[in-house]
Amino acid sequence: MSDQVKWHERELTKKALEVFAVECSHRDHDLCGGSGSCLDLLGELIQSRSEAEQARSFDAMRERLLHRYEQPSADWTTSALLRTTLDLILIPPLENWLWRSIAITTALARLGERGLSPDAVLRSGFRKDLTQRTLRTASSFLAAERAGNIAPADTPAFLRAWCDLLAQDPVCEDVGPMVSLSALSPSVCRVVEDWADRAAVGHLLSWRLNDYQPVERSAEDMVFSGGKDATIWICDRLARTYLGEWKASSLHWELAYRHAPTEVAIWAGVNPAILAERTVTEGMVTQELRKRLTRPGLRDDVANVAAEDLVPSVALLLQQGNPIAARQQAQNAYQAYPADPVLAMAYAFCLIPLDRREACRILAHLKPDRPEARALVTANLAVCDLFDGRLADAVTRASTIDVIGLVDTVWLWDPQSAVQGVAELRLECFAEWLPRLLAVAQST
Ligand SMILES: [Zn+2]
Repeated sequence: MSDQVKWHERELTKKALEVFAVECSHRDHDLCGGSGSCLDLLGELIQSRSEAEQARSFDAMRERLLHRYEQPSADWTTSALLRTTLDLILIPPLENWLWRSIAITTALARLGERGLSPDAVLRSGFRKDLTQRTLRTASSFLAAERAGNIAPADTPAFLRAWCDLLAQDPVCEDVGPMVSLSALSPSVCRVVEDWADRAAVGHLLSWRLNDYQPVERSAEDMVFSGGKDATIWICDRLARTYLGEWKASSLHWELAYRHAPTEVAIWAGVNPAILAERTVTEGMVTQELRKRLTRPGLRDDVANVAAEDLVPSVALLLQQGNPIAARQQAQNAYQAYPADPVLAMAYAFCLIPLDRREACRILAHLKPDRPEARALVTANLAVCDLFDGRLADAVTRASTIDVIGLVDTVWLWDPQSAVQGVAELRLECFAEWLPRLLAVAQST
């Protein structure tokens, strides 16, 4: 139903109830059974409508943009302070770095005055945003250096230590700007987690990894009193307008809050007045939960790996020569959500060198809409043919792939090695991979 129709229907319901309540009141409430419940019902309807209106009107970005030329002050909403902090920590500390750093520090100080500790906000609430952004920025510079597009001296100084760190990690040979924390090797990952745990706030803001000043923080300092998920919920609630951007546990907290606002706010560790800045209706939460349960690819994590990180994580295990662990990780995810095409594809991909009958069975069931995903299914079936020595079948199958428009690089098995029964991983676009497959299959 369109919003317009829904709006019209709601208006009509309200009008009808008003007419009814007026008439009923004139007749001493004999229509509603004499209790006056017609008026109660009208009152509830008006209240829920104003709540829905309030919920719709919230926009964290607008809160921030209202003040974009000012430095944060005590009369800003908590939402404006949090959103400003989030937006600015994600901007590389290059241009206007002094203005940026004063703005973040002031926003954090104002948040601190309201009982929201800067350490909890940065090290828990926005931790993933910050570590992800620094890693991805550094990895895109590293990729550009390696491709010879920029000289190492052109990489900003604050990124040098990040690039050097990533250069030590085998996964970054290929992954490029898509690198994510859970896909990195444990030792590199530890360096980043330590930085987020221990670097002085000023060095977190300036993305400084080399010789950062360590500060000792106790576990209690890193979160609000309700714990890590409560901290993330409060930051999600006030800084991210769309519930689609929230962590799954934040939706649970929101439902609990709907039922006992004051109690839950105090338990989470914030002044209830702060959370009252925003209204979120129960319908918004249940709609988002329904979306996540029924649409693939929106879940926080499967088998302890974030869904978006599963492919890089599995690829890393394969690259490290650990096909059994890769298959196990992909299998756990696939078994939890067998209908999710991304997870099924990842699992089938891992199976190709190990169990082609099962790999082909899963691949044959995938009927993707997107051309990239369709090409991937066909390519993987063609690789099964190569492994099993059906070269003519591989050519026939692979020839149906139309590479026009398929520009993204994807993980594929190397055709040359596959013919020899060896599994070797490639990150390539179809336009590079397909001619190699055809050449190998036709010449052997
Ligand atoms: Zn009545």
